[in-house]
Amino acid sequence: MRKKIVAGNWKMNLTIAEGTTLITDIIKGLPSLQEQKQVIIAPPFLQVASAAAQVQGTAYVSVAGQNCHQEKSGAYTGEIAANMLQAAGARFVILGHSERREYFSETNAQLAAKTNAALEAGLQVIFCCGEPLEIRDAGTQNDHISQQISEGIFHLSAEQLKNVVIAYEPIWAIGTGRTASAEQAQDMHRHIRNVIAQQYGADAAAGLSILYGGSCKPSNAAELFACPDVDGGLIGGAALKAEDFLGIITAMMNTK
Ligand code: PEP
Repeated sequence: MRKKIVAGNWKMNLTIAEGTTLITDIIKGLPSLQEQKQVIIAPPFLQVASAAAQVQGTAYVSVAGQNCHQEKSGAYTGEIAANMLQAAGARFVILGHSERREYFSETNAQLAAKTNAALEAGLQVIFCCGEPLEIRDAGTQNDHISQQISEGIFHLSAEQLKNVVIAYEPIWAIGTGRTASAEQAQDMHRHIRNVIAQQYGADAAAGLSILYGGSCKPSNAAELFACPDVDGGLIGGAALKAEDFLGIITAMMNTK
């Protein structure tokens, strides 16, 4: 089912104590959510279990991992398996964030394997795609995104796709303060929905949630979320302050 979602990606920020306080403040200020309007918090791995315990009982708030390994277990020092996240209380995992692609050399093929592992473990996947500035400047962003999506998730069945959310995050807008305009976001989100429709049919595309990420904040969230193909946001910097994150959640609550 297509949902509006605001997801906060904390990246490598906040100690457990700081994160616990942030979640307490978010829960305190949270409007009452519904099945169609949900919130996800993605803390560092260390805090997944305690964050999941903290949000238990708060309807429609769930916890995500920021990554997982494609294997179920084994000699992969420093890595976390999807079933470990699931057992710790995570319901989602973010895969393919541009920082993972850039700093940890994650490829589309590897992300396809991680997606399988996550779905097999019972997690839902927030699959990220996005183009660097040189691709945007060259005007080939649609092809770039089509390739990331087709190589990353087109091996999934239509049934599996129901457990995937796509996050479009233009790399030139992540953490830069430079947001995509509502028109740029809408154009790409429509393109993504079309790409999904071609592969899986119109109903599957209509049911898919597509989030925008890239310097989304309380001051621009309402305009971005008003776009017909934008179903909420994946938030970085503004997810680290309760007031800002709640402001973005309010913008989602106010969209139809
Ligand atoms: C992100 O990294 O997912 C992100 C969107 O970051 P920011 O909101 O800080 O641009």
